[in-house]
Amino acid sequence: MQEVQTENKTLVQKDKEHLWHSMSRFNANANPTIATKGEGSWFTDMEGNKYLDGVSGLWCLNLGHGRKEIAQAAYDQMVNVSYFPLTQSHVPAIELSAKLSSLLKGSYTTYFSNSGSEANEVAFKIARQYHAQNGNPGKYKFISRYRAYHGSTIGALSATAQANRKGKYGPSASGFLHVPPPYSYRSTFESDLAAAEYIKEVITWEGADTVAGIILEPFISGGGVLIPSKEYLTRVAEICKENDVLLIVDEVVSGFGRTGEMFGFMHSAGVQPDIVTMAKGLTSGYMPLGATAVQSYIYEKFKGEGDKQHFRHVSTFGGHPAACAVALKNIEIIENEGIVERVSQLGRSVLNELQDLETLDCVGEVRGVGFLFGIELVADKQTKAPAAEEFSGKVIAKCKEKGLIIGRNGDTIPGYQNVLILAPPLSSTDEDLRFLVDTVKTVIEECESQTV
Ligand code: PMP
Repeated sequence: MQEVQTENKTLVQKDKEHLWHSMSRFNANANPTIATKGEGSWFTDMEGNKYLDGVSGLWCLNLGHGRKEIAQAAYDQMVNVSYFPLTQSHVPAIELSAKLSSLLKGSYTTYFSNSGSEANEVAFKIARQYHAQNGNPGKYKFISRYRAYHGSTIGALSATAQANRKGKYGPSASGFLHVPPPYSYRSTFESDLAAAEYIKEVITWEGADTVAGIILEPFISGGGVLIPSKEYLTRVAEICKENDVLLIVDEVVSGFGRTGEMFGFMHSAGVQPDIVTMAKGLTSGYMPLGATAVQSYIYEKFKGEGDKQHFRHVSTFGGHPAACAVALKNIEIIENEGIVERVSQLGRSVLNELQDLETLDCVGEVRGVGFLFGIELVADKQTKAPAAEEFSGKVIAKCKEKGLIIGRNGDTIPGYQNVLILAPPLSSTDEDLRFLVDTVKTVIEECESQTV
């Protein structure tokens, strides 16, 4: 026992000295949660505390921990062709690119990378080069929405429109414009369709001959779980077509069943994105992999042996054979176990139950789609003034005390860290979901009663 305690202490010390954590401030007084065991939707920390992971790690552990078939797929690939670059080819990447094309219900060609940020960077480069090769070299601008997160690298961060995340790292790359998102609870617009028409206005006044693409998530996730009407994306897609602007759909979070469809864009009629970017749920987090799928008519412009057609981009580890093998197995499980249909059905009942919270004074709105839920906390229901960061922080801490990990919207702008986010693994059992709903409800009710 003594030995274990000393070992744990040493680990914490080493962590504090040598491991630079993502998205967290250094806190000398707080110890990191160090996971030592995972099982389905649950993990156990070094002290033996067990938690339900209500945010699937970083919204990626979609099939939960410990799937032996996935580990086996990685093992089998690693002991055979351990690495091979995609300057040439290998079987898992070929099979996966074909599989993605059929899942996307179109004819797509995929460029593989390692992460969501990279997948978006690749999309921007392909879009600009495509327009240039298509006789429109002046089309270089990208439009994205405020509150959206598209990644951490400079290009993807430039498309990200959350002031807090960008402030220290400017100036952003040029050519990135932002528009307000559809957000009925706090909208700048009368309707979601008006938000779409605003995009048309921006394209017109910027000059359609300068705009390369629009990048958007079907449902803004980290920016506060925004669920627009289905018609919004349909209209944006039309506006893109009318203006020869590429529709780049960021499915990094929403892909592979998270929203109760295989891809988030599939909720909206008549939408066939020009480019789709993927990561996270593509491998359920078992291996790093990013993917940028482009419609064949775009890829056509890159066929040819001249320098003009040459896509000058390379990624050493992008499309790693083991990562592609893992993705194929992950997709096979999602299909064989009917995960998408289950998420669609159960998601609706979980949302109904969570919406009971709207009777509380501190809850402005509860929204969701599939297994992606947002609980918007307010300080004043009439004015919709957002709840203080300390309040959402308290709810998160209390949930953790009761064995449940939940999140909140990312670093948007000061004063707006008030949307709690739940995104449990898609394979969560009925009991897991019961625990999630009961715990969140109890904790929010307790926290509200303590503030009165
Ligand atoms: N797009 C969206 C919508 C995301 O949520 C994220 C990550 N949270 C990214 C892109 C970037 O993905 P990665 O962290 O794998 O670079």
